[in-house]
Amino acid sequence: MAYKAINPYNGELIKEFPSATKQDVEHALATADQYYHAAKTQSYDERAHQLQKLATEFRQNIDQYAKPLTTNMGKLFSEAQGEVEKNAAFAEYYVKHGAEALQNISYNDVPDKTAYVEFNSIGAIMTVEPWNFPYTQVMRVFAPNFIIGNPVILKHASIVPECAMAFANAVEKAGIPAGAFTNLFVDHDQVEQIIADHRIQGVALTGSAGAGNQVAAQAGKYLKKSTMELGGTDVFIVLDDADLEAAIKGAVTARLKNAGQVCTAAKRFIVQSNHYADFIAGLSTAFAQQKLGDPLAAETTLAPLSSKKAQQKLQKQVQDAIAGGAKLLWGDPTPIEGPGAQFSPLIFAGIQPGNPLFDQEFFGPVAQVYQANDDAEVIKLANNSNFGLGGAIYSADLERAKRLASQIETGQIALNQPLNSYPDFPFGGVKQSGYGRELSDFGIREFVNAKLILY
Ligand code: NDP
Repeated sequence: MAYKAINPYNGELIKEFPSATKQDVEHALATADQYYHAAKTQSYDERAHQLQKLATEFRQNIDQYAKPLTTNMGKLFSEAQGEVEKNAAFAEYYVKHGAEALQNISYNDVPDKTAYVEFNSIGAIMTVEPWNFPYTQVMRVFAPNFIIGNPVILKHASIVPECAMAFANAVEKAGIPAGAFTNLFVDHDQVEQIIADHRIQGVALTGSAGAGNQVAAQAGKYLKKSTMELGGTDVFIVLDDADLEAAIKGAVTARLKNAGQVCTAAKRFIVQSNHYADFIAGLSTAFAQQKLGDPLAAETTLAPLSSKKAQQKLQKQVQDAIAGGAKLLWGDPTPIEGPGAQFSPLIFAGIQPGNPLFDQEFFGPVAQVYQANDDAEVIKLANNSNFGLGGAIYSADLERAKRLASQIETGQIALNQPLNSYPDFPFGGVKQSGYGRELSDFGIREFVNAKLILY
């Protein structure tokens, strides 16, 4: 059985789940298609009401839904509670604003013609989701598509099956009709078979560039519209006029939240020369204060990684980086033995082109710090990456920070705060970080038929 919940803190097997059969897949596609046709005659209001019930189900049972996040992928329990709340907020955004974002657009200034565009549903969406935010990543796709009337079929990461089940149970408890959302424990080959099926009209994936590469190719092969939310090597820039204390505080959150396993986590810190030594000293002090341990315990501040495999992958990256000449500034890179997936934080000097690990995503508590002399060097370093997801700039001069932000090749930049996702704002990347946008009014228009009516 490929879908296994294993507690990454102690390696204990919690539960295994049987894989979906051919019949399960066909049943999911058939009920999704039935739902798609039935939803065409239903109002947005009716679906908004059902989506609110789903949000309320999560909001009223925060600890119950938080638990499998912590036990399946190791998230600190306080962060898991935060994810459940955010999950409800993502749904509530589309309850309130979904219909508004789908209003007709009129074209009144064209001589002799009147026209408008209306937004129609297109059919079932196949979504492939990762383990790092097991609920919110799913809700980002489900909530907007549900309001439109597009059913969603989920293939979740194989290490978080209890989270996938909890989401599906919440949908059922909220009274959302069968076919609107189906969780399937399918393998990679079955994902391609589903994408190929004529009842699927869109594909949304969040995960690594490798997974994106393969699934986007399948979507292209079968001419299905797709969105790809992939990895990043986000910059966190500290300019010479920045409030250093605030920058260090933000940097710690930006690198260590979710044990460093966030696509928009700060991975490359670019610090102007006057702050460089003090920034490293401040970051080292904060990293030294982290308490590794049981993510269910209130005193733990740094959770284990999501799995033994993730720990081994990061350990190998660190060893390869050192072998390739990377300079360790702080921390102990000796692997932590035992059944758990704990990982101690590390700080490297910026990894240089030529090192085989240059431009790789370190998905865990590993920081790289680069020194820059002026703004031109900051931009050059920031854009020297195949990824283009997000970033942050700290400066006392907001206009200067905005000018720099405009020159950085990413989908989003936060000023004087760590980057985060919000339901009201679009989220997505450029370059190898993928394409398309989730959340906000941008997110709800990814899988629609923008139909022109002309008279
Ligand atoms: P993956 O990208 O491999 O997994 C993400 C999802 O994609 C999972 O559901 C996985 O399923 C699925 N998947 C992977 N390959 C295929 C395929 N060929 N066809 C269909 N589905 C596929 O991430 P990992 O969990 O292996 O993590 C590895 C790296 O991915 C991390 O180090 C990090 O760099 C990046 N990552 C980025 C995330 C982000 O938010 N941008 C989130 C998670 C990971 P299954 O679990 O069954 O393999």
